[in-house]
Amino acid sequence: MQFQNTLAFAQSLDREDPLAKYRDAFYFPKVNGKEVIYFTGNSLGLQPKRSANFVDEVMKDWKELAVEGHFYAEKPWWDYHERLAAPLAKVVGAKTEEVSVMNTLTVNLHLLLVSFYRPTKKRYKILCEEKAFPSDQYMFQSQVKVHGLDPSTTIVEVKKREGEHHWRTEDVLAKIDEIGDELALVLIGGVNYYNGQVFDMETITKAGKEAGAYVGWDLAHGAGNIELKLNAWGVDFAAWCSYKYMNSGPGNASGIYVNEQYLDRNDIPRFEGWWGTKKETRFLMKPEFEPMENADAWQISNASILSVAPYLASLELFEEVGMTALIEKRNRIVSYLEFVLGEIDKEVESTFEIITPKDRGCQLSVFLHGEGRPLFDYLMKNGVITDWREPNVIRLAPAPFYCSYEDMYRFGQILKKGILGHD
Ligand SMILES: *Cc1c(COP(=O)(O)O)cnc(C)c1O
Repeated sequence: MQFQNTLAFAQSLDREDPLAKYRDAFYFPKVNGKEVIYFTGNSLGLQPKRSANFVDEVMKDWKELAVEGHFYAEKPWWDYHERLAAPLAKVVGAKTEEVSVMNTLTVNLHLLLVSFYRPTKKRYKILCEEKAFPSDQYMFQSQVKVHGLDPSTTIVEVKKREGEHHWRTEDVLAKIDEIGDELALVLIGGVNYYNGQVFDMETITKAGKEAGAYVGWDLAHGAGNIELKLNAWGVDFAAWCSYKYMNSGPGNASGIYVNEQYLDRNDIPRFEGWWGTKKETRFLMKPEFEPMENADAWQISNASILSVAPYLASLELFEEVGMTALIEKRNRIVSYLEFVLGEIDKEVESTFEIITPKDRGCQLSVFLHGEGRPLFDYLMKNGVITDWREPNVIRLAPAPFYCSYEDMYRFGQILKKGILGHD
């Protein structure tokens, strides 16, 4: 399709958009009385209007039933989290029993590493991407130290090539090869938070497994954004937060995936607690731990219901729309945004450089050469919510659930004014 950088054209795309009606299922913040153009769904997704009902229901059950709510609430609390597994499994391409919801992302990565990072004298190295998300770096370093190892000789980073902004799959594979028998774990952000790159998870997982390592993925920027087939790819484990593309609310519950081959086993090292033991015998309060036969075996505490409830609300929407439709719109709206950027670039004779490679999801990371922080401030003041990373990269993630093509057009116009410096 030949795109045009006009309001009428953008509006015609919106009219044809089968997901257009979902915009109204979310609350938009306002600047100067006008709904913002929201590009930070990769950081904190907007609030679905139905989320409050789910939270209110819990508050009401607590008010009226108190402790009895564990068993007699509208959605009983003791197994509330189980309701999320089936819809979430579809989002990440897993079997229902492979998915659970608990804690928060970094906590879950730590817990999963208890099971899947088991260094030996010979096999102890961890492979990750250079400049991984800071929390992941701290997680790696502290895990390594807990095992009495030295991070500098244990953590191996795949680097980008000089002058390039993305990682090459062949370089990841070469590193796996090079580390060989010493490789204990491959754990990479499946979608990089900075450049928006989608890693070839299938190929890398296969290579890591062949080298004899465990392979896991941090899917903070992947879940609800890209097509995932964790089970089919043979991924050992994964975890993601729910507040980015999954719209569950700030700091809310994280999801985990554990491959079926590790389920219903008592011989897996794991940090355990009462919510991971079989629910049939849980309240007999016995000293023996009998793991739940699904990924819930990794649960430790009773679920944080108020953080799980809005995730369930959001998953209803994912269930309704499906990843296929979301991805179709995502591809189109990101292409349109790319087109608009190209058109504005010509008009202002600036040099935008999109550093996101073609293997991408929802996010475009753009170098605004010659522009600085004042442009970012201008955008924010004029109702464009985006984020700025030093030196001068803006990350634009038009979430397909609620962003419109008209938003992309309007953004282009505001960007132009911001650069030309007049109204
Ligand atoms: C957002 C993000 C996190 C956040 O971790 P929390 O434990 O939820 O605070 C971790 N890793 C990556 C790659 C992220 O993008």
